[in-house]
Amino acid sequence: MRKNPYIIFLSAPGAGKGTQAAIVAQELNMAHIASGDLFRQAIRDETELGMRVKSYVESGQLVPDETTIKMVLGRLSAPDAEGGAILDGFPRNLQQAEALDKALAEQAKAVDKVVYIKVSEEELLKRLSGRWICRQCQAPYHTINSPPKVRGKCDKCGGELYQRPDDTAQAVKKRLQVYFTQTAPLIDYYAQSGKLLEVDGEGSVDEVRRRIVSALHREVVARWA
Ligand code: ADP
Ligand code: ZN
Repeated sequence: MRKNPYIIFLSAPGAGKGTQAAIVAQELNMAHIASGDLFRQAIRDETELGMRVKSYVESGQLVPDETTIKMVLGRLSAPDAEGGAILDGFPRNLQQAEALDKALAEQAKAVDKVVYIKVSEEELLKRLSGRWICRQCQAPYHTINSPPKVRGKCDKCGGELYQRPDDTAQAVKKRLQVYFTQTAPLIDYYAQSGKLLEVDGEGSVDEVRRRIVSALHREVVARWA
């Protein structure tokens, strides 16, 4: 297998990016680095980083770039990310994308592909209301699309399910606004360098997973050997 493939998962909040990134990372045996999960973990652990980012995360605003970039690049230098990684939720604006390109270039590496999961705005709003997350393993559930077998309990680890503070109506509106103004321009940025893989994000979790895996097989995995 070729070393160091870096695959970014890009989408609006609610498009299923986190769910798919976790599944695909496991399937391809790659590290899954989710900036939002790292921030929420820090907040839960009440670390210095957690205290600093709490108000941004809970209100749906972007954490300042300096903090975010430092955290993600630090995580990327861990041993399990040497063989490549799936980046979920980072980069989220042009400055972050440029910082990532620069950091990878310094190690003679580069972003390989960007999986852009496309979902209509109407569908996003539907999905964002009704979302529940496992407190222990972060597995996401949805009251309508993917309910847990036992109400309020995680299928995988039995952990308690909760709603993220940034899943309130007001924070959801903010996150979508941030996405359309700051993150959506990355679609063009990566399309220009021929790295964008656009995948239809509507349909079941498994349908979307199959689309992503087959696109990645065609574009990346088949070339690893
Ligand atoms: P979603 O994609 O569902 O909005 P995430 O878990 O990716 O959720 O992110 C949750 C929050 O964490 C964001 O709204 C933001 O406050 C913060 N965050 C995550 N990634 C970044 C990033 N790359 N830059 C700045 N803030 C981030
Ligand atoms: Zn769980």
